[in-house]
Amino acid sequence: TLLAKAIAGEANVPFFSLSGSDFVEMFVGVGASRVRDLFGQAKKKQPCLIFVDEIDAVGRHRGAGLGGGHDEREQTLNQLLVEMDGFDPKQTIIVIAATNRPDILDPALLRPGRFDRQIVVDKPDLKGRHEILKIHAKGKKISKSVDLETIAKRTPGFTGADLANLINEGALLAARKKKKIVEMVEFEEATDRVMAGPERKTRLISKKEKEIVAYHELGHAIVAAELPNTDPVHKISILPRGMALGYTLQVPLEDKYLISTEEIKNQIRILMGGRIAEDLIFNEITSGASNDIERATALAKQFVCTYGMSKLGTIQFGKTDKQVFLGKEMGGQSADYSDSTAKQIDDEIQLIITNCFDDAKKILKKNLQPMKDLAKILIEKEVIEGKDFVDLFAKTQKKYIKPKVKKTI
Ligand code: ZN
Repeated sequence: TLLAKAIAGEANVPFFSLSGSDFVEMFVGVGASRVRDLFGQAKKKQPCLIFVDEIDAVGRHRGAGLGGGHDEREQTLNQLLVEMDGFDPKQTIIVIAATNRPDILDPALLRPGRFDRQIVVDKPDLKGRHEILKIHAKGKKISKSVDLETIAKRTPGFTGADLANLINEGALLAARKKKKIVEMVEFEEATDRVMAGPERKTRLISKKEKEIVAYHELGHAIVAAELPNTDPVHKISILPRGMALGYTLQVPLEDKYLISTEEIKNQIRILMGGRIAEDLIFNEITSGASNDIERATALAKQFVCTYGMSKLGTIQFGKTDKQVFLGKEMGGQSADYSDSTAKQIDDEIQLIITNCFDDAKKILKKNLQPMKDLAKILIEKEVIEGKDFVDLFAKTQKKYIKPKVKKTI
């Protein structure tokens, strides 16, 4: 909301806003007419900005509601789509919407001409939280002994709003004690309140989970760094983003349109790294690797069935992935191969995954000590940029892994 307001302020245009949750309890037809009114008003005041907060409340994937089709939410959503399609190119209205759940939005909303750009506003990292705390602390009577950086360190997962809340809570607590200045004790109590308070919707990560995520992501990053011809690691983060608790971002040096067998296998090896790292360090595995497993399995399947790269030969098995996705193949309709071939395909996929798993495990076992050192840094900093990762990894490797001594005669 602040970001949208800032854009309107910068552009010096009127700002119209509505919140998706306003519609949830409305009578039938009211939501749609409110959308119509809002866009009508906006058209008279253009150039202007329309902001829809919590768009997931109306923009949820259609058919997922309990109303069974024509419920209020759906009518409101349809009206929104109609209004957005009704813009002519001369109109100067920008529509911005915010959601914490981009994954559940109706795909119709994200089509070109509608909400066709997505901007991820991440939760702030340690440095970001420190800066935000400084802003909110400005003008408040705070003791010199208060260390905002320490507070920032204790509040992973807090949003900007949570941090503002924390500072306010602290001030209130001090006022209640009839103190003239706010001290560290109040902020500590405020942190607990904001964290445990009934109002908390944001997900907070425990210390243990943070550790698991750190090792998981480093597992990916180290396998990627150790394999030849892979995209360089661009960023490792253990700040939650969307549905993921952490992420390792690899960015290719150049656009690529072809992918070789070894490159596919490398991708699978990297995907396996997360799960393996968890297992090596904690002797226990979590559900955190489910998306990795899904992607690795899909890659192995393409390897065999689409790209004809396995020993089963250069044959396409089954129709495209799209149909597999729609579940048609599960119904057995478009499986164009025999049951015995199906068995062979399964075996091949399993073999690829198992071999890649073993390869990745070898790499991580060799780099166990460097990984532990890097994990400490990642847990502390929460984000490591690619360049720093390369330097740190090389440094820790030098410390623990003896270079092979060349024999000289
Ligand atoms: Zn992963």
